[in-house]
Amino acid sequence: MRSLTYSDEQEEFRSVVRRFLDDHSPPTEVRRWMEDDAGFDPAVWRRLCDDLGVGGLHLPEAYGGQAFSAVEQSIVLQEMGRALLCSPYFGSIVLAATAIAHGATDAAKKERLPDLANGSQRAALAFAEQTSAWSPHDVAMTATADGADFRLDGSKRFVVDGHSADGLVVVARVPGSTGTDGLSLFWVAGDADGLERRRLESLDPSRKLAQLDFAGVRAAALGAPGTAAGALDHTLDLACIALAHEMVGGAERVLETTVEYAKTRVQFGRPIGSFQAIKHKCADMLVDVELAKSTAIHAAAAAAEGAEDLPLLAALTKALVSDAYRTAATESIQIHGGIGFTWEHDCHLYFKRARSAAILLGDATHHRERMARLLELGASKASA
Ligand SMILES: Cc1cc2nc3c(=O)[nH]c(=O)nc-3n(C[C@H](O)[C@H](O)[C@H](O)COP(=O)(O)OP(=O)(O)OC[C@H]3O[C@@H](n4cnc5c(N)ncnc54)[C@H](O)[C@@H]3O)c2cc1C
Repeated sequence: MRSLTYSDEQEEFRSVVRRFLDDHSPPTEVRRWMEDDAGFDPAVWRRLCDDLGVGGLHLPEAYGGQAFSAVEQSIVLQEMGRALLCSPYFGSIVLAATAIAHGATDAAKKERLPDLANGSQRAALAFAEQTSAWSPHDVAMTATADGADFRLDGSKRFVVDGHSADGLVVVARVPGSTGTDGLSLFWVAGDADGLERRRLESLDPSRKLAQLDFAGVRAAALGAPGTAAGALDHTLDLACIALAHEMVGGAERVLETTVEYAKTRVQFGRPIGSFQAIKHKCADMLVDVELAKSTAIHAAAAAAEGAEDLPLLAALTKALVSDAYRTAATESIQIHGGIGFTWEHDCHLYFKRARSAAILLGDATHHRERMARLLELGASKASA
């Protein structure tokens, strides 16, 4: 039976991370870095890596990590989501470093991961393309062999921190290959010839997205060419669970601040929380958020175990948590009344994060369709 709670030591670790983020990522700082093109405070990132070791928390010691698991990582992500931290963590560690950890050769892991884990380098995972589908099947970018290296041609969209990362982990395929065949992971320097990077205007400026255009860009293969499909699927499953934890942290914070407001905002001589219409909304939010959190914790434990049902749990978690956070953020604005609509209030920062995170890595519909496919596959296997 997987535990749905954290141990005392893990809660102690959470307190340390929360204290740090309370000090370094108050709403004033979030708003400051949302406006900034790079989008994060390098000094805070330095201390998160040096003092708290978050960069390598879940990576093996052989590659500069601390060999904890997705469970400890989930605590960090919940706290980052709660504080709406603007940071390279999701793009560089959750996406790029995880792809390298599962899809690169031992030599490439030794070359790339320690610098990502200690925060001295930042990478981005370039995966989604024109269809904006987060599926290995939809990768069209080609990698043509050129001596010991490759040449990349094509475009990538919605690349988290792709405009500012030091290096890119790029997913591309052998020309003429289709589906999950012929996929490889490549390393490209951020300033490579033939690479154009452009930041996209997006709903949520607290997480920057970029469009990347490759015209004959030289790239080095990170893993055995043509064999990356399994590693990519696994990376996306782990990233969905990680993102779900970030969303759980945001949703919990939204619930807390909204209930607090409902208790203190007085209308018609009574706190608005004493009116049944508001009370019901708060109770529904609590049920949604608690269910989402339990599911996400269960999925992180499954990831830590390397469980077989991980793809199904990842899809379930991403769909469920996306809906819970979006609903909580929407209801929060409603319960705050007129003030919740104003730019000065933080409600809409969480609303934007909730909406953008719900789409990133595939929306709830995409993940429900995946669940349906995975369950059908299970049924046909069982009956075979
Ligand atoms: C920037 C800004 C500009 C504005 N401009 C105008 C303007 O030009 N003209 C104008 O007339 N007004 C204006 N308003 C006021 C606006 O109409 C009020 O904000 C709005 O009526 C909601 O009131 P409130 O924000 O005080 O919310 P509250 O009254 O505090 O309500 C908060 C929440 O509690 C709910 N609630 C309250 N009482 C009950 C109850 N008895 N039963 C169930 N639920 C309840 C509300 O529906 C809401 O969801 C403005 C407000 C802002 C912030």
